[in-house]
Amino acid sequence: MGEIINGKELAEKLQAEIAIEVAELAKEGLVPGLVVLLVGDNPASQVYVRNKEIAANKIGLHSTVERYPADLTEEALLAEIDRYNKDENFHGILVQLPLPKQIDEEKVLLAIDPKKDVDGFHPMNLGKLFAGDPEMIPCTPYGIMKMFEAYNIALEGKHAVVIGRSNIVGKPMGQLLLMENATVTMTHSKTKNLPAVAREADILVVAIGRGHFVTKEFIKPGAVVIDVGMNRDEAGKLIGDVKFDEVAPLTSYITPVPKGVGPMTITMLMKQTVEAAKRQR
Ligand code: NAP
Repeated sequence: MGEIINGKELAEKLQAEIAIEVAELAKEGLVPGLVVLLVGDNPASQVYVRNKEIAANKIGLHSTVERYPADLTEEALLAEIDRYNKDENFHGILVQLPLPKQIDEEKVLLAIDPKKDVDGFHPMNLGKLFAGDPEMIPCTPYGIMKMFEAYNIALEGKHAVVIGRSNIVGKPMGQLLLMENATVTMTHSKTKNLPAVAREADILVVAIGRGHFVTKEFIKPGAVVIDVGMNRDEAGKLIGDVKFDEVAPLTSYITPVPKGVGPMTITMLMKQTVEAAKRQR
């Protein structure tokens, strides 16, 4: 049975460290500020935003959530972003995705000042990351790198397989692993013989969004398995992309869902807000 990577516990430890730093900065007159813009009433988004708000308050950030109706126009949202780009009390701006269909997501991400883009989704920040000189890093893969670090999981020379190639998880994950000298294979819905490719992995990161998709056929004995997936089963229970019960016995390390990657994502958001504030000072 692999060791369970306790994302919740690690997140709490890192958040306590960030809170200390925030208290120090406050003495110097700098209170890092984060504004979250939420459009519409997507239930999952409501939960994510609420969790971000709780973490920000706990850490001592100056935080605000702006809630807008589902029929907000693109123009109005861009005006709000412009307002917060200019507001020196806020060092981080996060627009909760997905957005209603009348709003062009790409336009919105481009409008955020890259210096305040604490989600790391702006093309400028993604470009810097892929050039090997990151400033803001997408929080989910960043949190996973912190897990490897905390559990002393060596990456150099290891074969890492990433399943999923989204701009916010899979692709930046591959790049971060590459920067740590892993040999990286990116896979997706058109990959042939996916279980066989995955079975080559020393490190397997799964970010597809299909409950219990990854079974023991995907696992090389002793592999490290990171499950990014957040799915609901028929009973409404939160489940990962990995069939934990049958996969865990084969692994050396594995993340659970919940209490795995999720809490780390929020923590890295807090960390980047503090870093952004220091840079903007
Ligand atoms: P996404 O944008 O929907 O991307 C999914 C990726 O998975 C795509 O690249 C897709 O391939 C690939 N895929 C889909 N079905 C596949 C299959 N049968 N075999 C192989 N690859 C397949 O999703 P995302 O935003 O990256 O999120 C992935 C999951 O992580 C979701 O469950 C999401 O809720 C979760 N998530 C969790 C956190 C967290 O903090 N824990 C953060 C972000 C996301 P193609 O490109 O070929 O279509």
